[in-house]
Amino acid sequence: MALLDVRIFPDPVLREECSPVNGFTGELAQLLDDMKETMYQENGIGLAAPQVGETIRATVVDVSEDGSDLIELVNPVIIASEGQVSSEEGCLSIPDYRDTVVRDALITVEAFDREGTKFTLEAEGILSICIQHEIDHLDGVLFVDRLSRLKRDMFKRWLKKQRKIQ
Ligand code: ZN
Repeated sequence: MALLDVRIFPDPVLREECSPVNGFTGELAQLLDDMKETMYQENGIGLAAPQVGETIRATVVDVSEDGSDLIELVNPVIIASEGQVSSEEGCLSIPDYRDTVVRDALITVEAFDREGTKFTLEAEGILSICIQHEIDHLDGVLFVDRLSRLKRDMFKRWLKKQRKIQ
């Protein structure tokens, strides 16, 4: 296993529409292992392939506190959703910025595991929010895109300040 470099906003790879995985190969398994290790190393609860420069529809999530609940989602699709919830989010690709995002409260997701077996998952709470955040990454969408106009302006100002500091 190897640690991967997490791509940081505004890296253009974060804006790409990712392609579906069509081969459940050893290469995919290796990538998922490396993504898992990188996510734990960075203390993240989710990581999507484009965040490590791979534009394929694969993501890993683990919202447990002790790293005991890893879920790998390949070609995930939200097939049902219900309710709304707002919560504070952050992103490994936008370090040090957090803000409140509104998302669906309950979701049903269809995805494949690393062997190509299809499964259905119902998620609520932080797991639901995390999966929606990661699926957004596969479409080139970042959580700051979902902020209100006012908050997005605040983000842009924050970004300018960060660039001056660096
Ligand atoms: Zn993210």
